[in-house]
Amino acid sequence: MQKRPKIISISNQKGGVGKTTTAINLGAALAFKGKTVALIDLDPQGNASTGLGLEKSERKATTYDLLLSDQGLGDILWQTDVPRLWLAPSNTDLSSADLQLMATERRTFMLADAFRQQSIENLDLDYILVDCPPSLNLLTLNAMVASDSVLVPLQAEFFALEGLSQLMLSVREIRQTANTRLRLEGIVLTMFDKRNNLCRQVELDARENLQDLVFDTVIPRNVRVSEAPSFGRPVLTYDPFSRGAVAYKSLAVELIG
Ligand code: ADP
Ligand code: MG
Repeated sequence: MQKRPKIISISNQKGGVGKTTTAINLGAALAFKGKTVALIDLDPQGNASTGLGLEKSERKATTYDLLLSDQGLGDILWQTDVPRLWLAPSNTDLSSADLQLMATERRTFMLADAFRQQSIENLDLDYILVDCPPSLNLLTLNAMVASDSVLVPLQAEFFALEGLSQLMLSVREIRQTANTRLRLEGIVLTMFDKRNNLCRQVELDARENLQDLVFDTVIPRNVRVSEAPSFGRPVLTYDPFSRGAVAYKSLAVELIG
């Protein structure tokens, strides 16, 4: 069976804005909707891998091998507890990848090459979500060069929009050079507190300036969302009726839209 998955990088060069949380829970929500999803953990911290319940000692083949050895995506996927949700794990090996990539000629094309060489069309996936590290380094560039689109989690706080313009410039630059099909999937507001004036103001500014690029769905700050990873589960199975779970399901519906 030949099916080209849609590849989405989840990226924002700021740390702690909800990238990994969005990768895990959007991935789970898409799987709940019947889609087959591979989450690629491209952060050496391995938070997505931990958050989906894969112990460090069990991470045999990782995204490091995908980038820098001849392993294909199919060789490194691990089936999570959520049906149809697969994980390509990472560990601290990946922290040396940036330097090693620097030394290779195709330094920004290694992930795209890996997808092509062992053709991902044969894996029967609907979506590939790439959880990016918190910087615009070579790992992130590899993700964007291999992707169809970039989804940006934005935490509603004072400097949020400032970092965003830098990210959007990078996306444009990559579209003009290495990957002409790259587009902006959208911006999703995360850890939103509707009683907080600053949050509401950032939302207003974002919707006014970026209009259709901002998802209607807003992810609320919800303690169940932050508890779930320590149980190695998405909030969708940890507490299916929590506000966080409901929001991520709604984001999945919008994305499939
Ligand atoms: P990033 O991957 O961008 O560094 P994370 O997804 O790891 O960010 O989130 C940073 C922290 O915020 C984590 O401790 C996470 O559990 C918490 N968090 C993320 N989203 C929410 C939310 N909607 N409600 C409450 N806590 C959240
Ligand atoms: Mg992260």
